[in-house]
Amino acid sequence: MRTTVGIIGAGPAGLLLARLLHGAGIDSVVLESRDRAYVERRQRAGILEQGTVDVLRAAGAGERMDREGLRHDGIELRFARRRHRVDFPALTGGRSVMVYAQTEVCKDLIALQLADGGPLLFETEALAVEGAGGDRPRLRFRHGGAGGSEDVLECDYVAGCDGFRGVARRAVPDGRTFERTYPFGWLGILADAAPSHDELVYARHDRGFALLSMRSPSVSRLYLQVPADTDAGDWSDEEIWDELERRFETDDDWTLRRGHITQKSVTPMRSHVHEPMRHGRLFLAGDAAHIVPPTGAKGLNLAVGDVVTLARALVHRVATGSEELLDAYSATCLRRVWQAERFSYDLTTLLHRAPGATPFDDRLQVARLDRIASSRAAETDLAEAYTGFPIG
Ligand SMILES: Cc1cc2nc3c(=O)[nH]c(=O)nc-3n(C[C@H](O)[C@H](O)[C@H](O)COP(=O)(O)OP(=O)(O)OC[C@H]3O[C@@H](n4cnc5c(N)ncnc54)[C@H](O)[C@@H]3O)c2cc1C
Repeated sequence: MRTTVGIIGAGPAGLLLARLLHGAGIDSVVLESRDRAYVERRQRAGILEQGTVDVLRAAGAGERMDREGLRHDGIELRFARRRHRVDFPALTGGRSVMVYAQTEVCKDLIALQLADGGPLLFETEALAVEGAGGDRPRLRFRHGGAGGSEDVLECDYVAGCDGFRGVARRAVPDGRTFERTYPFGWLGILADAAPSHDELVYARHDRGFALLSMRSPSVSRLYLQVPADTDAGDWSDEEIWDELERRFETDDDWTLRRGHITQKSVTPMRSHVHEPMRHGRLFLAGDAAHIVPPTGAKGLNLAVGDVVTLARALVHRVATGSEELLDAYSATCLRRVWQAERFSYDLTTLLHRAPGATPFDDRLQVARLDRIASSRAAETDLAEAYTGFPIG
């Protein structure tokens, strides 16, 4: 088998890259280790920055998103029983975000890719990237599970879009990793309950952080800060709702709507960047190169920024023969990645209560939130970062 760009992974990064290349007339093959149903059901991100929304529309994947997604013009910060709304369009010259689940983004991109006959092979696991430093990289892969057959895909370029636990990163020698793990995680639930607020609510409480989000007008997504080693099964549904109620408490008559919990899981919190994001003809994109704690809703949006930059560079290479943009790929992406890392870290430490935090730390957090609520400059900084850093 031969292709111009071999793509490992059918997450948002790999699927979107395939679409962008297809639109530019460049052929690619996507290898995905899991089956289609698994990829389409994997619950993860749900907040699309303005730039991501624009990219998906331009790639022809915006129709259902525009119909079913929920445009959000702000978020609420909740602390010391008070509520403060951050108005994105007023602070950023009209920018907003879209609530549209990652599962739906993937479904839309998969449907488009298959409709165009684009090679997208499920249950096909990349085992290794070979020869990335030369001019004929190869992807060794196995089709059909553990006992399946092995084959090789010869490529001009390889895009490692295989997430945090994939194989591509291992093929980048002499890389450097920058990492921080946090002593807490998020217990996340999906519930059949209409959202209790029409925008996301980020709550800082002495008992820990809580986030109110949503997937649709009838499905709520809620999170509680919990110790890192928590087992989701240790929390009964009633305990979860009671704790959410405590952390969202206000001095007005706001109430939390409860409903049947359909999914429960714990997400660890980690910051991780691998540099460089390129080795020869292998390019890392998305979670394969970097992870952010989910607080700033940046993971999916960073993946989109990477593949837009990569597609642009590959199109430039094919059209002009120049490697200039490919050579700049890693540095271009890392500038944006580190801004997202900084923002995600700031927001995480602003809102979560670290084990061993003192009353002094608590007062500082509230003072930092007060500053955002009372200074247009501080609030604008938050709104600009939340709605997204420019791509490229
Ligand atoms: C539990 C969880 C919750 C999250 N919540 C949020 C959130 O609320 N907000 C937010 O912004 N971000 C969130 N994220 C992060 C966000 O989902 C990721 O940043 C995003 O999925 C990155 O997309 P990606 O395509 O780079 O990687 P992925 O989505 O991880 O896709 C990688 C794909 O590669 C496939 N793959 C892996 N290895 C191989 C192989 N060897 N061969 C072939 N295929 C392979 C995987 O099966 C997968 O389909 C969350 C992540 C997790 C894990």
